[in-house]
Amino acid sequence: MKIICVGRNYAAHAAELNNPVPTEPLLFLKPDTACLLDGWPLYYPEFTNDLHYEVELLVKICKNGKHVQPKFARDYYKEVSVGIDFTARDLQEQCKANGHPWEIAKAWNNSAVIGTFIPYEEALNPAGNIDFSLTKNEAIVQEGNTGQMLTDIDALICYISKFFMLKRGDIIFTGTPKGVGAVAVGDKLEGFIGKQSLMSCSIK
Ligand code: MG
Repeated sequence: MKIICVGRNYAAHAAELNNPVPTEPLLFLKPDTACLLDGWPLYYPEFTNDLHYEVELLVKICKNGKHVQPKFARDYYKEVSVGIDFTARDLQEQCKANGHPWEIAKAWNNSAVIGTFIPYEEALNPAGNIDFSLTKNEAIVQEGNTGQMLTDIDALICYISKFFMLKRGDIIFTGTPKGVGAVAVGDKLEGFIGKQSLMSCSIK
């Protein structure tokens, strides 16, 4: 499986890092070795001094496809969850300044926390969107709603599948809302869809 990540999919998050809002989705990949399952600890990597959490809505692909057309996009996912796109922000700033790829800042071992998946329909709020959030040491640090996405899930599937064949089991990290921040050893992060806890990770 592979992990396809979307950058800057929420305008307020692009603004908090002083980035322009992209006109098309910004994509990057994480390898399967980046996966960290729900409940497992993350050991603070030695190569960064500024480890950040980014909570994101995750979409699990249920069908193989290339060049997916908009009217069929909904057929490609049945389950969603929340996860964390852990980022070595100091390394990412260096990569950006040098015009280099982001992988050493974002795609390292265990940098992608994967929550427990639930059916898409179960995740929807009455307005037909998905509310998700992250707590750090039991205080809310990030809240997002899929209605705020610059590119919605179906459009992401169409766009991504133009470049990368989607395969069953692939996971899309759909971008983080505002409120990203640093973690320290001893912190505990917990991710929610609505009020349902689907992911936890302690920093060791
Ligand atoms: Mg992210």
